[in-house]
Amino acid sequence: MRSRAEIVDWARSCYEDLDFLITQQCLDDGQKAAGFLPVYAPREIIHAAGMLPVGIYGGGDQIEIIRGDAYYQSYICHLPRSVIELAHSGKFDFLDAMLFPSTCDVIRNLSGMWQVMFPDLYVRYLDLPHVREPSLGGAFWEGEMRTLLAALSEVAGTKPSDDDVRASIVVYNEVRQVLRDLYNSRRDEPWRIPSEELYLLLRAGEVVDPQTFIDHARAYLRAVHQEEPHIKDRSRVIVVGAFCEQPPLGLIKTIERAGCYIVDDDFIFGNRLISCDIPIDGDPVKNLSAAFIGHSEKTSVLYEPDPKGKKRLMKERATAARADGIIFAAASFCDPALLDRPMLRAGAEANSIPCIAFKYSENTGQFQQFREQAGTFSDSIKLWGGV
Ligand code: SF4
Repeated sequence: MRSRAEIVDWARSCYEDLDFLITQQCLDDGQKAAGFLPVYAPREIIHAAGMLPVGIYGGGDQIEIIRGDAYYQSYICHLPRSVIELAHSGKFDFLDAMLFPSTCDVIRNLSGMWQVMFPDLYVRYLDLPHVREPSLGGAFWEGEMRTLLAALSEVAGTKPSDDDVRASIVVYNEVRQVLRDLYNSRRDEPWRIPSEELYLLLRAGEVVDPQTFIDHARAYLRAVHQEEPHIKDRSRVIVVGAFCEQPPLGLIKTIERAGCYIVDDDFIFGNRLISCDIPIDGDPVKNLSAAFIGHSEKTSVLYEPDPKGKKRLMKERATAARADGIIFAAASFCDPALLDRPMLRAGAEANSIPCIAFKYSENTGQFQQFREQAGTFSDSIKLWGGV
């Protein structure tokens, strides 16, 4: 049986593997791979086409940006620069397709750049539906996924049947279940599951085949529940806004070491965007579409039709996670996160939920300021129930 340390070491090696060697080892003979940018892409469709879905999250704090800066204005977030840097360094040469979801203008523009830079690659801008009406957004998204499945199958040289799509749904239902188990375990006993370790597992899950992730995540859960926990007197917080460009690992560690337990977050949010198990009876592509339309979690990258929905959201999340406070942490110049922040914060403050806010970049290297801010926040919650 693998120990907790062995599993975390494996996850860390996946996270640090910017050459994607571990990912390439997961490919069966002749199998192809499709990359996708944050936040959400239908992994079931990529998988059903016979390809390995690979989440692309930039280079974090591990690479120096030389060419990437030339493609974007200096004020734009960091993620697209490091993605371009990795591409120009040949790190994505093993990918046979690249998908760009309609997360924001930056990622939309990146899809156009990709078509110019890599004309021989299959590149697709995934226009996610924002109208939550099955006959409109649902029908549109179903059509988009059928087109995507046909195109990826052509790239992969496969002919997937409905049963292949059903089999992929079953695999990703299990991924969703193990993610729920990880998140529920951390919420209930955050002293057992440091967010640094959970985060490393999430990152590994983006770059290996789903069954390998499921096996490691299940083994991790078994291992942590066999250990004697060391419970610390910390404040319970939710980290909101880090759904696309990811914070450096040091920042996640810093928040917890400063006296907070992270009990919910938005890290790698696309893997949990659909909250339910997806049924496999009937038309599987229709089912995928219905799940997206009817069961997507609320997020800044999807339209919220209820004008009061965003104001209610923080209270709902804090209640569900039994959180004492909220840390709004977004990438610098992240439009979706920062445009939502005033509404989300107003909703939190109207419900007397203590909040602090800061911005980061994936390559931020100094954490002292965050340590002081998070430490003071945690102390103030403990002493006075808020700031
Ligand atoms: S960090 Fe924000 S602005 Fe930048 S690519 Fe992601 S969603 Fe878009």
